[in-house]
Amino acid sequence: MAKTSHIHRLKRHKYPSGNSVYFCTLPDCHYKLDVPLALGKRTMCNICGKEFIMSEYTIKLKLPHCNDCGKVKVVDSSGKPRYVKKVTNQILTSVAQETSADLRSRLNSVTSVELEDDI
Ligand SMILES: [Zn+2]
Ligand SMILES: [Zn+2]
Repeated sequence: MAKTSHIHRLKRHKYPSGNSVYFCTLPDCHYKLDVPLALGKRTMCNICGKEFIMSEYTIKLKLPHCNDCGKVKVVDSSGKPRYVKKVTNQILTSVAQETSADLRSRLNSVTSVELEDDI
């Protein structure tokens, strides 16, 4: 098999035994890596496709993503903590300066953002 030179895009797979590995999800690549060994390695962001370095935080993710695509914990209108994309949080910050009616409608759309359930 030809040597691969691309940046791998990793996804975590958990075996029934409880062991986890990362494997590359790109076509024709059979790269596999023990999860703890992924720390400090270059990998491709599963969201934006940018190259980034795996950190103590990102190796906890099923689908690792770069800092720019990170999600932040916010409390929604019903008081429940949830994770939203950072870009959404930037919208939240910017709408804080807008009218409250507009804020309410934007917030309503924010609460439908997918949860970070892969930590
Ligand atoms: Zn690969
Ligand atoms: Zn990214």
